[in-house]
Amino acid sequence: MVQKLKLTKPTRKMTEEVVVELVGEHAMPIVEFLKGKTKISEFIIAEELELEINETRNILYKLLEHNIVMFLRKKDRIKGWYICYWDFNEHMVPQLHHKMNVGKLEKMSERLVTEEGGTFFMCRNACHRVNFDRAMEIEFKCGECGNLMHQQDNSRTVEFLKDKVKELKKLTS
Ligand SMILES: [Zn+2]
Repeated sequence: MVQKLKLTKPTRKMTEEVVVELVGEHAMPIVEFLKGKTKISEFIIAEELELEINETRNILYKLLEHNIVMFLRKKDRIKGWYICYWDFNEHMVPQLHHKMNVGKLEKMSERLVTEEGGTFFMCRNACHRVNFDRAMEIEFKCGECGNLMHQQDNSRTVEFLKDKVKELKKLTS
């Protein structure tokens, strides 16, 4: 399946994945609130979601760092101060999601190479896991519990990583 990256409406799940990963779970109510609306004052957002104005702004600025939202600053004619009006930048979500998956694919591929190419050792208490060179250095004796370290079978990890890489390749191609 060829994914169109521009001007595709993201699903709720995709939006959630992006927002939670890049900003955090706590930013979701604001994104949900802005969805389908335009130019919402930050005071309205704070009031409707029962958040402190500073907290609301902090979350909005974090979302702004990733272009998940955008704003327009306008001077309030009566009060004389500036108010920001916010929009959810919905079309950015598929691009961010794609970028996120590309990053994950890189990481997972690197880990796969490490796991496939190396031999790893662990004591029976699983205090920590070391590669062959480190195991040689410490003479196969666990630094924590003193037990002998044995070669660990990482075939399940390798299988898991292979599946992940395959899945991410599909998602990002
Ligand atoms: Zn140990």
